[in-house]
Amino acid sequence: MKINAYAAKEAKAKLEKYQYELGDIGNEEVDIKVSYCGLCHSDLSMIDNDWGMSQYPLVPGHEIVGEVLNVGSEVKGLKKGDKVGMGWYSASCMHCNQCMDGKQHLCGDAEGTIIGRHGGFADVVRGHWSWATLLPKGIDMAKAGPLFCGGITVFNPLVLSGVKPTDKVGVIGIGGLGHMALKFLKAWGCEVTAFTSNKDKTDALKKMGAHNVVDSTNTDELESIAGSLDFILNTTNVKLNWDAFLTTLAPQGKLHTVGAVLEPMEIPAFSMISGEKSVGGSPLGSIALTRKMLEFCVRHDIYPTVEEFKMEDVNDAIKHLHHGKARFRVVLKA
Ligand code: NAP
Ligand code: ZN
Repeated sequence: MKINAYAAKEAKAKLEKYQYELGDIGNEEVDIKVSYCGLCHSDLSMIDNDWGMSQYPLVPGHEIVGEVLNVGSEVKGLKKGDKVGMGWYSASCMHCNQCMDGKQHLCGDAEGTIIGRHGGFADVVRGHWSWATLLPKGIDMAKAGPLFCGGITVFNPLVLSGVKPTDKVGVIGIGGLGHMALKFLKAWGCEVTAFTSNKDKTDALKKMGAHNVVDSTNTDELESIAGSLDFILNTTNVKLNWDAFLTTLAPQGKLHTVGAVLEPMEIPAFSMISGEKSVGGSPLGSIALTRKMLEFCVRHDIYPTVEEFKMEDVNDAIKHLHHGKARFRVVLKA
């Protein structure tokens, strides 16, 4: 089968039309006809080889929703025509302790959708059936894609860290991931502080669920809320004053990063020791938690706020995100 895609031929290159041959489908694989695919900052980092693991030609795109086109002979629970989503991972070994424990996103052999294989900026994408998650009936396909990377990435830490409705929670960086975190936390019942470097977003952030809006780059503003937060979720990938954020935590509070901060984060030991504070991170979330997140979204009518571009305008979409103009997640229509 010939696949029509958009690929970067080298680091930092513009995407170009690219055709490739998809061989015979494996017994446990599904092919998904792409309807929409979100544009995540990780796509930009992969195109630019920020993490040193990109392989070219690189077809980005890992917030895919579409329709099952073909199924291998051993595929479970999916049939042709089903509407599904697929995110950062599209396969895992299914026999290591992490996989057996339902934590497939922690599998050492988990396969990234755009690492050594081709992603969703294409008419078709292939993966293991277990990573193709059935969409709840009636869900808006045009908005659902970003839930499969950005959405589950910010949903997982709330469950993992046991965030309670009575907690005061901060989110740093209100882009694709951050805005979904605000919406989840509003439904969770928390008091939410949005840390942004762009105060022009204030009204929009309050509508999404932020009770307070604080400048993420202003140390005086951060110090003015010292000791107040139980949990902070960082979604930026830039150098910020992490020590000042630790100061905003209450005793036993946690600073959790999902943002792939490109340089080592400076975390002074005494800033953790004195208040029994901690720092952590996490990737995506499990398959079962992704299903639960989708149910949660349906129950609370939570959707990402998206801007739609045509797939053929992918380079304009990339520029838009790169310049910090996305409000709040770009989605490409196939
Ligand atoms: P995004 O839409 O570009 O949002 C990032 C936000 O960070 C921006 O909207 C901006 O928010 C803030 N920011 C950007 N530059 C800044 C600066 N110089 N100073 C202060 N704040 C700045 O990106 P995204 O798609 O949400 O992805 C965010 C990060 O998560 C990326 O590093 C991505 O690779 C990573 N990621 C990780 C996982 C995982 O598994 N852990 C999964 C998906 C993505 P404000 O305008 O509000 O300041
Ligand atoms: Zn992503």
